[in-house]
Amino acid sequence: MPVYDYRCNSCGQRSALFYKNYSDYDRARDEGLCCPNCGSTEMTRLISRVTLSKPGRDYASMSSDEMLSVLEGGDSREVGEMMQQVGQDEVMGDPVTREVTERLIKGDKPEKIEKDIGPDLT
Ligand SMILES: [Zn+2]
Repeated sequence: MPVYDYRCNSCGQRSALFYKNYSDYDRARDEGLCCPNCGSTEMTRLISRVTLSKPGRDYASMSSDEMLSVLEGGDSREVGEMMQQVGQDEVMGDPVTREVTERLIKGDKPEKIEKDIGPDLT
C-alpha cells in the first residue's frame, strides 16, 4: 500500500496520505491533493520514512559482491537472514547449515556456533 508524506506549502502541516493502490494514488494526484488542515492544494511530497523503512533486505537479488560485504560486515543477524533467504532448499535442507543459520538469526556469535558444532561446520 503506497503511503506518501506531504507538507503543505501554505500552513506547513505535514500529512501522510494512504492509498489502496497506485491507481488510487494517480487519481488523487490528478484531482489535486489538498491539505486536510487548510485546504490548500500546494502540497509538496516528502520522501516518506514509511516507504524507506525496509521490511528486510532482499538478499536474493543481491550481487555476490554485496553478499560478501554483508558477510564481512560481521552482523551475524544479517548474515543469518541472508543465508535463510538466499540458501533456499538445497542449503537449508542441510541440518548443520540450518542450525547455524537459525543461531545466527538468534544473535549467537559465529565463533561460538563454530565451537559448538565443531569440525562438521567446515
Ligand atoms: Zn495547509
